[in-house]
Amino acid sequence: MIQTMGLSKSFDGVEVLKSIDLHVAAQEIVVLLGPSGSGKSTLLRCLNGLEQLSGGSVEVNGVRVDSDMPVSRKKANFNEIRRNTGMVFQQFNLYPHRTVLGNVIESLLVVKKMQRKEAELIGMQMLERVGLTDKRDEYPSRLSGGQQQRVAIARALAMQPSIMLFDEPTSALDPELVGEVLEVMKQLAKEGMTMVVVTHEMKFARQVANRVVFMDGGVIVEEQHPDLFFSQPQSDRARKFLNQLS
Ligand code: ADP
Ligand code: MG
Repeated sequence: MIQTMGLSKSFDGVEVLKSIDLHVAAQEIVVLLGPSGSGKSTLLRCLNGLEQLSGGSVEVNGVRVDSDMPVSRKKANFNEIRRNTGMVFQQFNLYPHRTVLGNVIESLLVVKKMQRKEAELIGMQMLERVGLTDKRDEYPSRLSGGQQQRVAIARALAMQPSIMLFDEPTSALDPELVGEVLEVMKQLAKEGMTMVVVTHEMKFARQVANRVVFMDGGVIVEEQHPDLFFSQPQSDRARKFLNQLS
């Protein structure tokens, strides 16, 4: 589903991703761990073209972008990748002046040019998946952070992506609201969604991930099944990271 080869990314001459080879199979749940600044967000953003690649290539669901392709082709291919890839961020970024349902169907109306009736039907199905059908006519400011993040997930799902990327989706939430968002993500995982998740929720990583990818300093230091990663990390850097958590 996802394959990067020699992916590198520099900001102002500083390489923050160094020849990353990441591969994610269909229906796999990969949790990306690593200290702050290790490149996790940048890697996710390179997967769907929110960042320009400095070197190497990205292939998502059969669509490939090479850093040395002509700009117009890269753009077109990333547009196609983005249609297939939902992304959820720490900040929910909902439209404040649109209702919950309005937020969920916005891309269906604008990007897919769907009729409102049809879009609303899909929108309600997505709200059902995140347990928020009763909030369809509310404005985001009237919802809790956990509910807003669930709306953001429903919005991403509305485009019927084959891959979901999550960048610290629960980090901005009060502790008591984290669980409801993780539950929705667990459900998605169960339904067979392919997911790459950056999170500090180690319990989620243990329970849900098929594989932990541990990054430090812009490289993948190790990849393991979570059972192994948490009990017998292979690298000093992973051991240090895990020790600092407890
Ligand atoms: P993580 O998500 O693991 O905390 P990031 O991917 O956000 O790490 O950042 C990796 C490195 O890239 C950091 O050193 C960060 O300062 C740098 N970086 C990220 N985005 C930018 C940017 N837009 N401009 C300059 N440097 C950036
Ligand atoms: Mg980050």
